[in-house]
Amino acid sequence: MPLSRYDREVRFVLAVAALVIAGCTGPSAPSSEPPSPVSPPFRSASAPKTSPLPPPTVYASASDEPVPLADPAAEKARVLSEYAGRKPRAWGMDIAGVHTTVASKEPALALTFDACGGPGGDGYDSELIEFLRRERVNATLFLTNKWIKAHPTIAAALAAEPLFEIENHGSAHRPCSVTGRSAFDIRGTRNASEAVDEITNGALAVFAVTKQKPHFYRPGTAYFDDVCLQIANALGYEAAGFAVNGDGGTGFSRAQVKNALLKATPGSIVLLHMNHPSGATAEGVIEAVPLLRERGIKFVRLGDPNPK
Ligand SMILES: [Zn+2]
Repeated sequence: MPLSRYDREVRFVLAVAALVIAGCTGPSAPSSEPPSPVSPPFRSASAPKTSPLPPPTVYASASDEPVPLADPAAEKARVLSEYAGRKPRAWGMDIAGVHTTVASKEPALALTFDACGGPGGDGYDSELIEFLRRERVNATLFLTNKWIKAHPTIAAALAAEPLFEIENHGSAHRPCSVTGRSAFDIRGTRNASEAVDEITNGALAVFAVTKQKPHFYRPGTAYFDDVCLQIANALGYEAAGFAVNGDGGTGFSRAQVKNALLKATPGSIVLLHMNHPSGATAEGVIEAVPLLRERGIKFVRLGDPNPK
């Protein structure tokens, strides 16, 4: 049964080991974030509670009513009052609370495509996206504020495509840290305040094209520390990770992408990229999808209710 948005606000332990990835783009200079790019209708929101007892999988429900973003300044003050100054104890791509699988009564994979933005990361893989459209493949797209600013028309078209769920890949593609810890040579946010800004400005950019608060947050490089992850949860976002590294941060060959997809255990969240048209992601996906469908594999979005 689909869970409501706030029922989803739970943390759970995941045992799936994430493969090492090279990130989307290579180093990306952290920068100060501009003020919120949009002025959404605000509403107050209470802090979601967390539970120490994890369910196996949780989802947003596609039947949820559209949810506007809460007042970013008020939300930031509320979250910092609880999390500022806390010391992280965990760091990684699959720490407790990061979703790496989806629940499905049918064999399914959740293909997720990141668009990282910034120098070297601002591309758009139209061959890949057109294939997904043509073959009616559901997918979740994680877009950064940077990438959306580079491709406002394309981002709007992606948001209008019912096949795709648009989620938050951060504002400047920074690892989710409260101490400035780096991953793949990309500097993480340096404190709780920067972490809130990175998450919120990414969410505002997504909101600008979808008119809906995103459900999931995957930071640049997919690295979290535990405090930053709790901050994301407190702001109302689930932490999205992955069980299968589908394109090796776009370093995989066509055959490697194809094999990663064909070997994926049903229920896996698969990490891929849609911002490197010169890579082999599209070619591998185009070869693998028909073979997976022959096996009865369905393609679901992270926010889909569990298929009956
Ligand atoms: Zn990325």
